[in-house]
Amino acid sequence: MNAPVIGIARTLNYYAYYPFWQGFFDSLNLKTVVSSPTTKEILDQGVKDALAEACLPIKLFFGHIATLKTKVDYLFIPRIVNLNRKTVYCPKFLGLPDMIKYSYENLPPVIDIRVDNRNLKDSLLISSLKLASFFGFSKLQGFKAYREGIRRQNLYENLLQKGYLPVNEVNVNSPKLFSVKSSFKIALLGYPYLVYDNYVNLKILEFLHKNNVQVLTAEQVPWPIRNKYAPFTNKKRLFWTFSDRVLSSFQYFLKNVPDLKGIIHLTAFGCGPDFIVDRIMEIDAGEQQIPYLTLTIDEHTGEAGLVTRVEAFLDMIKRKSR
Ligand code: SF4
Repeated sequence: MNAPVIGIARTLNYYAYYPFWQGFFDSLNLKTVVSSPTTKEILDQGVKDALAEACLPIKLFFGHIATLKTKVDYLFIPRIVNLNRKTVYCPKFLGLPDMIKYSYENLPPVIDIRVDNRNLKDSLLISSLKLASFFGFSKLQGFKAYREGIRRQNLYENLLQKGYLPVNEVNVNSPKLFSVKSSFKIALLGYPYLVYDNYVNLKILEFLHKNNVQVLTAEQVPWPIRNKYAPFTNKKRLFWTFSDRVLSSFQYFLKNVPDLKGIIHLTAFGCGPDFIVDRIMEIDAGEQQIPYLTLTIDEHTGEAGLVTRVEAFLDMIKRKSR
């Protein structure tokens, strides 16, 4: 019998945790298939299939699942609740497996293991062992696969901290695109599934590179440092993991990069948490007199309009520093 093929969507958690799952499945010799990079057709399909009120990335997730569902034996949509013991994922992430299961008929089985590092029952290790056992592997094989996942994830996070930009593809073996080094530094902040998806970000990373801009992203700040900068008021921090990541790296850049020229916040239309994140960053950047630009992406945003805004933003910064 052929080994089962497991489908993974190239969006949302893909840009944050794919190396872990890739290492895990590879170690067990299980074949994974990742959906193609985002295209207009994938986004259009997602817009058609998802609830109208969903944010753009959730619609996109539907589009990626639609392209995978006839090609694989299983769809892998883990319910990631918490990994760092401090913050949880946005509720839309937690509902993903259910949203998909109840929106499509004739789906391959959905693997929706729960990962919640706050309790032993659903910790990443225990859930990994359960997943290995689901495919008929022993605890020892599951443990080795977990260790390989952690090894690749650490490798990936080190690369990100060195400036690796995983545009469209997470590749720890031969990572391609690294941020240029330049004295013109701009922080491009936003969720990894917006910043690193070349279709969704309307090629803004390419544009900044062509203009010799050094791009700082949230993932370049190691977790222990971000953790130190996370509390934003009265020792409170944001509940949602990716929002917390954006805000804590923003605070870090503001206080530790003296030649920071500006901040661009890439945000998705329909994102609830970003209403808070955007406002806090705008106020804090204003107080420090750091130019700040919000770019909201929706399914109708065009590359030309976005490039014009970024061009005008860069010109304004250059005029200011003359
Ligand atoms: S954080 Fe925002 S963009 Fe991301 S899934 Fe939640 S609502 Fe959507």
